[in-house]
Amino acid sequence: MRTHLCGELRPEHVEARVALCGWVGRRREHGEHLSFLDLRDYSGTVQCVVDGSVDVRSEWVVRVEGTVRLRPEGTVNPELPTGEVELTDCVVEVLAEAEPPPFPVDDRAEVDESVRLRYRFVDLRRPRMQQNLRLRSRVLGAMRAAMVRQGFCEVETPLLWTPTPEGAREFAVPSRLNRGKFYVLPQSPQIAKQLLMVAGMDRYFQIARCLRDEDLRADRQFEFTQLDIEASFVTERDVQDAITVAVVEATEAAVGEAPSAIETMTWHDAMDRFGVDKPDLRFGMELVDLGEVFSGTQVRAFAAPCVKAVRVPEGGALGRNRLDGLVDRAKELGAKGLAWFKVTSDAPVALTSPLDKVLSDAERSGIVSATGAVSGDLVLVVADEWRTACEVLGQVRLDLGRPPVGQGERRFLWVTEFPLFDGTDEDGNPRSAHHPFTMPHPDDLELLRSDPTRVRSQAYDLVLNGWELGSGSIRIHREDIQRQVFDALGIPPEEAEARFGFLLGAFRYGAPPHGGFAVGVDRFVAVLAGEDNLREVIAYPKTQSGTDPMTGAPKALSERALRELGLRVTPAGD
Ligand code: ASP
Repeated sequence: MRTHLCGELRPEHVEARVALCGWVGRRREHGEHLSFLDLRDYSGTVQCVVDGSVDVRSEWVVRVEGTVRLRPEGTVNPELPTGEVELTDCVVEVLAEAEPPPFPVDDRAEVDESVRLRYRFVDLRRPRMQQNLRLRSRVLGAMRAAMVRQGFCEVETPLLWTPTPEGAREFAVPSRLNRGKFYVLPQSPQIAKQLLMVAGMDRYFQIARCLRDEDLRADRQFEFTQLDIEASFVTERDVQDAITVAVVEATEAAVGEAPSAIETMTWHDAMDRFGVDKPDLRFGMELVDLGEVFSGTQVRAFAAPCVKAVRVPEGGALGRNRLDGLVDRAKELGAKGLAWFKVTSDAPVALTSPLDKVLSDAERSGIVSATGAVSGDLVLVVADEWRTACEVLGQVRLDLGRPPVGQGERRFLWVTEFPLFDGTDEDGNPRSAHHPFTMPHPDDLELLRSDPTRVRSQAYDLVLNGWELGSGSIRIHREDIQRQVFDALGIPPEEAEARFGFLLGAFRYGAPPHGGFAVGVDRFVAVLAGEDNLREVIAYPKTQSGTDPMTGAPKALSERALRELGLRVTPAGD
């Protein structure tokens, strides 16, 4: 039907007779004799000049035959890649008429989210959405190619599955043939892929759909896509290297440039220096330890196990309201307080602060020298338990310094040696930081019994510009260690058998040491596309309340369908 794409015409095509197909964008009539219409397909837009008036409207689908010519002087449009040329002597054939679109098909229109999702097929015509979905496709293609090249074998695992231990709420699917029984949609292929290692697949990957029935946020949808991998006879580094190849090549394919080398940092260092387990390395403002400065302090507020500070360059300009806001924010985040010091002079040191008078001279100059603050800066200090002090200042650092998502370089980071357990459940048992199959750090096996909260794990995350792109670990393949971990988690043997018996059973038939990883593709694509909402990189996402305004899902089932499934819907609250 067509010889060219709208967006590819250039001066080199002048005099060619071409056929294009697409949607009518803007249309302008110049008297009775001349009409201009913009014709758009996914590749771009080109201007068509039609003699006389032409009966087409916005978003009609047309085929245009015409001759390419240079635009007359003074009418070149430098904003448009095709802006030097136009089509003349046009014959326009209408392929489909269209109702007026619910919103203009251009990137500038601000449109309500639910309207966009209701008419997603129109929304996706917008250049930005076209670019995002195509960028996503390049990322998936590059990842798949990278894994195949590295000897990984693609295996599809079932969607109708059974609970897996990632800890999120799961979607259940009623079984018609086994009344009263349910499948569970996989939170991830975790157990399936570990079984593939027992099965001798050696290196597995899958571009896997995962489902978690958790509240939706800008960075979370019910369904998401992972590059999921597992490999046998590997170290942490081997797994990280394989994933590094995939994300570096995907970045190149997506944005045309490779990222700089990927650093590695332990979880402890990440927390200590940045106050989060997913540091955004695009900017500084690292946390500074003031423990020594306040080691013998007389000031009660600073007599804490940990005193941390962050220097805010030129933050001295912040007014009292902003500073009070920061103090409130720190309290909201769990700190007892936040002290601020405006550096009015660095040599000799002079500070402005409600606490200035109670500090000793050594403390006053210590704050300035330890943080490297200069005149005009602001220093924020939290004194608390180590974790609280780090986390609170880490968040304040992000609030004050974090660049927008699409800005700056792409700074990937491996964070390693996560704690094996994180927090406790309602019964006071430790909770797995990753999942219960994660191998403890070999040096910390002894601590499993004596001090589980201090056990490090062989789990690692990949971080990009402050976004957690994914997690992975070396898995436990030895029954004795697995039993100790279940023990520490407070999972009795019978329960372990009931929940994960089929995996543990399989391990008795010869389990190779193995480990793996999963990269969250939606998040990865969002960062690469410079979008902070995942919905912008997913063709058909759900709204915040979990609905799809286009299809109306979720919907009630007919009485008959419910009967067949053996289900009865009870009123809310029952
Ligand atoms: N199953 C894990 C996840 O979805 C990834 C892994 O450990 O490989 O986060």
